[in-house]
Amino acid sequence: MLLKNFGQNQDLQPTAAYTPADEAEVLEILNRHRGQRVRAVGRLHSWSEAVLADGVLLDLRELNTVELRSEGDQLVGTVGAGCQIKRLLDELGRQGATLPSLGLITVQTVAGAISTGTHGSGRHSMSHYIVGVRLARFDGNTGEAIVEEVSEGQALRAARCSLGSLGIILSVRIRCRKQYNIQEYLGEYSSLSEVLRREPSLPLQQFFLIPWRWSYIAQHRRETDDARSWHASLYRLYWLVVMDHGLHLLILSLVRWGMIRSLVRGIFRHVLPLFVLRGWRVVDRSSSMLVMRHEAFRHIEIELFVRRDQLEEALSYTRDVLKLAGGGESSLSSRNQQRLESLGLQEDLRALQGKYCHHYPICIRRVIPDDTLISMASGAGEDWYAISFISYVKPHRRSGFFQFARFMAESMSRLFGARPHWGKVCPLSPEELEAVYPGMKDFRAVSSRLDPERVFQNPWTAELLDQASRTDDDCSH
Ligand SMILES: Cc1cc2nc3c(=O)[nH]c(=O)nc-3n(C[C@H](O)[C@H](O)[C@H](O)COP(=O)(O)OP(=O)(O)OC[C@H]3O[C@@H](n4cnc5c(N)ncnc54)[C@H](O)[C@@H]3O)c2cc1C
Repeated sequence: MLLKNFGQNQDLQPTAAYTPADEAEVLEILNRHRGQRVRAVGRLHSWSEAVLADGVLLDLRELNTVELRSEGDQLVGTVGAGCQIKRLLDELGRQGATLPSLGLITVQTVAGAISTGTHGSGRHSMSHYIVGVRLARFDGNTGEAIVEEVSEGQALRAARCSLGSLGIILSVRIRCRKQYNIQEYLGEYSSLSEVLRREPSLPLQQFFLIPWRWSYIAQHRRETDDARSWHASLYRLYWLVVMDHGLHLLILSLVRWGMIRSLVRGIFRHVLPLFVLRGWRVVDRSSSMLVMRHEAFRHIEIELFVRRDQLEEALSYTRDVLKLAGGGESSLSSRNQQRLESLGLQEDLRALQGKYCHHYPICIRRVIPDDTLISMASGAGEDWYAISFISYVKPHRRSGFFQFARFMAESMSRLFGARPHWGKVCPLSPEELEAVYPGMKDFRAVSSRLDPERVFQNPWTAELLDQASRTDDDCSH
């Protein structure tokens, strides 16, 4: 059996695959395959190796119940691991509730989404809101499959974002909240400071650096008590037809025409801004406002997280590298030149020159630090900003994108402490990842306790945990 992920950059070839009907069947399958590698998958919307499964594969789509309860002054949902976010939102919506944080799409499963730290803008990632995880794993003494409720301490912080590495998530308990409305409008600015200045009054905003035009288009957003606008449905139609489909079809045709660089630059400079209706203020439900149909066309993405104090420099660096990679007449600023020399990466940049023409708005989202061990926004301190690079070229023509992604991840992790999203293209080595995720050591300790035989690993997560183990040994000598 061969399965492919959404981005068609990962092949899964499990030795056996199951869609268990309930928890008892999950335990029965685990006992039947004792000693073999087991991985669960959601809807295969990750681009990274986290999604790989080379042994027994479990798809928990049948475990999709939703139950909402008040616990003290909090609303908590108990949700089956395989429940898709869209179904969860519908079920919560019927009871006047919703999720505190959402990514751009809703087709992921709840277990898949939290396992890679899925996030939106202006809040913590979804992982942060998890208050309990029901986990199937093997008992270290008896070797039997058991169910463990993880609800506190380091184990909970690990289970909130675990790359599938602690066991099979059966269900999660997630903090919910009453439904709320968001006001949104679009604006365009020539500098980052103009966008960030608006953040205190528009804390849910996300914005886009427009390549080749080098302006910022912001989706300004704030929570409001105002009622849904009478024209909200028209706004939804505008997003669906003009943005989700019209703009994407234009970009796809550019890519299919062989990416004549001057045409790409011209379209981004002069045509793309025509799609943006500035200043139209609309109030709509959060669950409609925060998402789009980003899964409508196949693409691939890398997303790099930097702290707020690094954002401006990281974006100036991004702009310089994109110009060079796009083959234009340009050179690095002296600051960025020095940076690359200090890393010894001048040759790598030279090799990238003219190899990759970026052709999608660069989405930038603020994520508040998470109380987790290894989600991208883990660790106290300044807010994180996720900078995303998306390519629509066909899967067999992605070599330029991968070269660019590798260069950006390596250089930005060393220059700005950037962390790549666990669910997106993640080209760093285990050593490089260890350097930007200080919580990895504690994560490994939890993983070693819950999965001492490394049954729930694929080769990629196993290598990551082995690296953490080597670093621990080095430190103890
Ligand atoms: C079009 C598109 C848009 C996206 N938008 C965003 C966005 O806005 N923000 C963002 O942060 N991310 C975004 N992503 C990334 C996506 O949210 C993550 O990759 C997410 O993990 C995918 O969920 P999934 O259900 O498909 O899980 P999969 O990709 O199938 O699995 C992801 C991980 O979860 C583990 N897992 C799944 N189920 C279980 C279980 N029951 N027990 C244990 N482990 C499990 C898997 O082993 C794997 O490690 C986007 C992806 C796409 C394709």
